[in-house]
Amino acid sequence: MKKNILKEHRKGFLLMNYFKPTMYLESVHKINLDLLRDIGIKAVICDMDNTLLGWNERIPSKKVMKFVENVKSHDMEFILFSNNIKSRVENFANKAGIENYFWDCKKPLLGKLKILKKILPYKTQEMIIVGDQLVTDVFVANRAHIKSILIEPISRANGGSKILAFFERIIYKKLAQKNILHDGFYSEEELGGKYEIL
Ligand SMILES: [Mg+2]
Repeated sequence: MKKNILKEHRKGFLLMNYFKPTMYLESVHKINLDLLRDIGIKAVICDMDNTLLGWNERIPSKKVMKFVENVKSHDMEFILFSNNIKSRVENFANKAGIENYFWDCKKPLLGKLKILKKILPYKTQEMIIVGDQLVTDVFVANRAHIKSILIEPISRANGGSKILAFFERIIYKKLAQKNILHDGFYSEEELGGKYEIL
């Protein structure tokens, strides 16, 4: 009986590990690119909506364009990886000077990411996924065993799916209960202490 309870407990930890980002920061502008380069990152795979621009905006800000440039000047490839439609992603990528972009990625499904991993000449541990959502960006990263950076969404009203927003809130709550991540308490360190590796 006792064993079963322990097992259930462990399962709970394992499940939440799928939503645990490697780092948690306020915005993409807080990413320490020197640090990423030093830990061997060669490709930054970045979400678009609410990560680089608000869901109701179309044009990248100067600051975002500078960020893209900075990633490249740190010898890392910048890859836009969005669930949004081709026209919106392409338009943004062209304006922001991003050569590598993928649309309709269906995160947290693994399909497009698997293709990307095949195309890129990098190892899994040389990639990092950046995004504002636990249920899409962080979840897909952990499913693929790729490191991730969660950032605060540019806008909370994201015009996206209400169901996803609902799950997102529940998962934030659970992560806080398990003392893995607290909303608004950012950390460049690896989060969550010593939990079982996926
Ligand atoms: Mg997003």
